[in-house]
Formats: sequence, C-alpha cells, structure tokens
Amino acid sequence: MKTIYADNAATTAMCPEAINAMTDCMNNIYGNPSSLHHIGQEAARVLTAAREDIASCLNASPAEIYFTSGGTEADNWAIRNAARLGKLKNKNHIITTAFEHHAVLHTLKKLEKEGFEVTYLDVHSDGYVTPEQVAAAIKDETCLVTIMFANNEIGTIQPIAEIGAVCKEKGVLFHTDAVQAVGHVKVDVKEQNIDMLSLSAHKFHGPKGTGVLYCRKGISLLGLMQGGAQERNKRPGTENTPAIAGMAAAMKKACAEIDKNAEFVSGLRDKIIDEVLSVVPRARLNGGRENRLPGNVSFCFEGIEGESLLLYLDLKGICGSSGSACTSGSLDPSHVLLALGLPHEIAHGSLRLSLCEYNTPEEADYIIAEIPKVVSRLRDMSPVWERIMKEEQK
Ligand SMILES: *Cc1c(COP(=O)(O)O)cnc(C)c1O
Repeated sequence: MKTIYADNAATTAMCPEAINAMTDCMNNIYGNPSSLHHIGQEAARVLTAAREDIASCLNASPAEIYFTSGGTEADNWAIRNAARLGKLKNKNHIITTAFEHHAVLHTLKKLEKEGFEVTYLDVHSDGYVTPEQVAAAIKDETCLVTIMFANNEIGTIQPIAEIGAVCKEKGVLFHTDAVQAVGHVKVDVKEQNIDMLSLSAHKFHGPKGTGVLYCRKGISLLGLMQGGAQERNKRPGTENTPAIAGMAAAMKKACAEIDKNAEFVSGLRDKIIDEVLSVVPRARLNGGRENRLPGNVSFCFEGIEGESLLLYLDLKGICGSSGSACTSGSLDPSHVLLALGLPHEIAHGSLRLSLCEYNTPEEADYIIAEIPKVVSRLRDMSPVWERIMKEEQK
C-alpha cells in the first residue's frame, strides 16, 4: 500500500540538509559551547553560525534570536514577558484572537486567573481578523497584542504587517506565533513590524524540540527559568547544539526555496480543493481561498465524523488530521472551526490535509480519487446524513 503523508502542519519529515548538519554535529562537535577550550569553542561557533543564518532568514540581527525548546516555549516566553512588562506599568490588558494555538490560548487563560483581562477578537468566517479590529480593541491598559501569523488548522494568513503597524503606532507590543508561516511564506520582522515572534524547527523539515523566540532589540526580555548564563543570561541550560544546527540548515534551505516550493505546493492544494468541492456534495472549504498557506487544505463534510474519515483514509494510506494534532483525542470540535461560526455538527466532519514539497501530483490525484469514495461510504452508514437527505427532499 502506498503511504501519503499529508499532515505537515502537525510535523514534517526532516530534510537531508538538517539530518546531515545534525549527524555531523553529533559525530564531531560534542563540546559544551560554554567551555573555554577549543572543543567547546567549536560548538560555540556552530551556535554563532546558526544564529546568524536564522536571523538573516527573518531580517533580524543575531542578538535578537533566542533558542528555545520549540514553538510552545517561545509562545509562553513572549506572552509572559509582555505580561510582566505590562504589570510594571499597571497595564493588564491583552488582545488576541479566538483561534490561536493552545500554546497561546492556555497561557492567556492562566494570565486571566492571575488578574489580566484578555480580549478575544472575533474571527471572520473566512478565517482572518483585521487591523481595524485590533485598533478598536486597544486601550490605555493594553500591554500586548498576540496574533498568529497563519492558522495551523485552516491555513489562513493574517494581515500581520498592517496589524504590526497599528501596534507600533499605538505603542503596544506585538507578538506573532509564526510557527506555521516560517519557511512557507515570507516573514520579515522589520517590514512586518513584529516585536516578538515564535518559530519551531519541526514545521519546516527541521528537528523536533527546538525553536526560536525573536525579540526585537530594545524590548527588555526576562528569563522564565533560573540557571546558567546561556542565551545572554535569558535562557539557561546547555544548548542543544545538534538540533540548533539542524534547525538552521532546514531554515536556510526552506527560505532559499520558498517561492519555488510555494508555487508547487499551492498547485497541489488548489487541485485538491477544486476537485473535491466539485465532486462531493455538501462539502465546504474552511477559510478563504485568498491568503492561505500553500500547503493547507481544510474541509468540512456534512453528515460524517472527522475521526472516522481519518481512520478510513489511513486505511487507504493517506495520513491527514481532523484538525490539529493537539486536540485529537478529545471529542470536542475544534475551537478554530467554532471560531469561524460553524455549528458543532458541521465542525465535527472536518479534515485537514497539509501538504509539502515532498508530495507529488500523483499523490494529489490519489487523494482526489479516494476522498469522495470514503466520504460517500461513511455517509451511507450515517443517520445524520440520512436526516439531512430527508430534509432536502421536503
Ligand atoms: C506546532 C505549533 C506550535 C507548537 O510548536 P512546538 O514546537 O510543537 O511546541 C505552536 N503554534 C503553532 C501555530 C503551531 O502550529
């Protein structure tokens, strides 16, 4: 049986460049970057080079790059930092959207318990928020706006540069969770007026368990943990040199090939969207067609359960997701789809396919052939679908 991996928003396969950089590091560069002898300094040089490469992909400077254990830590750190800075000035209001990743939403829920007020902007049914909404929500007490660059379930890209400009004008810190964007669409922290940004290596063919917080020079950054002097006294713990080298190699490659990959992958995406919507009745695309991540396909099929659809597709060799990997295992429909205004019943029938440049046109054709068959088999067994059909005949 063939296997088609279409769950790249959950994680990606590593690219050979990242694997080579990591194995080279593991074989040869085992020193502690904090050690003063030459073995340690070789490792320190790997970190310096990685920091430079990553900074240059973001149009940041190396001193603005802090290595973390991934996107989740970077999100927690950025938000906690802004909250602490806000508290010093008696500012306790934060603005976000209703469809952020849980690394952001759950950090904010915790802050609400600690006395912060959080505004959750409504999301347009096509999957975006506007700079005007942000401007209208900002008050004197606002210490942070945190809005994701691109949504991990429905792939919609937010007007980040414009939102950043609003925040800049009003003097409010702006953080963006760019975990789904970096390596896939152009990210430029200066042009897009970004103060703090989170990224994660395993979403662009790098290793898991490593990421970056970008924090603009001039913003005071407080560490979350106590320990050694690594990362300029902000993030203690011996650096994961091999993973950082792998992340830099993957990011360099992804950024160099970004246009080529986006063109190819969005071609596969559009073909799947067009064909499935034209063949399957009562199917909808979640999120608008404009401003969409090149690899994101997100459907809802009425009358069926996303989980059953996934399992059937898996039997056909197709690996997708019903929403985000983080919520699978719970029976609640995705908070992202509910934020779009979809009723529970429809949100339950969701399917996310997230493609990358390793997918092929033949794979897209196979997906296009299999989805309608599986959907119709599940609908044949579904009492909900039977009811929908009866109502249609009335
Ligand atoms: C994957 C993801 C995260 C979490 O990153 P980890 O490195 O897995 O901790 C955060 N935000 C978004 C949007 C993501 O897609």
